[in-house]
Amino acid sequence: SGQERLDKVLSNMGYGSRKEIKKIIKDGSIKVNNEIVLKNDIKVDPYSDEIYFHGEKVIYRKYIYLMMNKPKGLVSSTDDPLTDTVISLLSDEYLIYNPFPAGRLDKDTEGFMLITNDGKLSHELLSPKKRVSKTYYVEVDGVVEEEHKENFKNGIRLEDGYISLPAKLEIIKSDIISSDIISKVYLTIEEGKYHQVKRMFESLSMRVLYLKRISMGPLSLDESLDLGEYRELTNEEVFLLK
Ligand code: URA
Repeated sequence: SGQERLDKVLSNMGYGSRKEIKKIIKDGSIKVNNEIVLKNDIKVDPYSDEIYFHGEKVIYRKYIYLMMNKPKGLVSSTDDPLTDTVISLLSDEYLIYNPFPAGRLDKDTEGFMLITNDGKLSHELLSPKKRVSKTYYVEVDGVVEEEHKENFKNGIRLEDGYISLPAKLEIIKSDIISSDIISKVYLTIEEGKYHQVKRMFESLSMRVLYLKRISMGPLSLDESLDLGEYRELTNEEVFLLK
């Protein structure tokens, strides 16, 4: 694999600007293959050479892929003037890669959020042409009936006139909770318009009370992740996504 300039490798990984790295190298804080290097333009193979930064081993990789169980109350962007973002939950170890959420969930929606710095993958997952399926667990105020499956299958006309792509409804059950009927369902959609799931149910005169994304494409939310927790995707999971 390729040789790259040491200062470029380190600054691409978020260890500092080129200028900062140059100074850090000059200060003797970088070792390559057990030797202190003092020149910033030496070439290294970031995958096979052993690089230490201030005594800490540099594990080189270009991309990170995290699965988060998004909690309510956070917005799914990289920065927001008013509200904490999902990115604010990440440790510095990941922040140096400038990750961003691949896709959006509403502030009050929970569940599967892919966070990465791989722009190409993100673009593909979100491209309407790719029709990546997303499954949501939904609790709605109202009675979801067998007949509604047909509505979702045929596409639902939203309030702005847009007719949604065919979606798959699976009914779990309805409960009566203090004289309200709450229905629990799974809904799988292959697009992601603004507030889409909420608007689909609104078109059927039902209000979404709770929304959680449980899968995206081939990946399901890892049930061992509590709200706000995240983990790296395995190599196999990344392979499945691509
Ligand atoms: N549909 C919605 O209405 N909200 C979400 O967060 C995701 C899908």
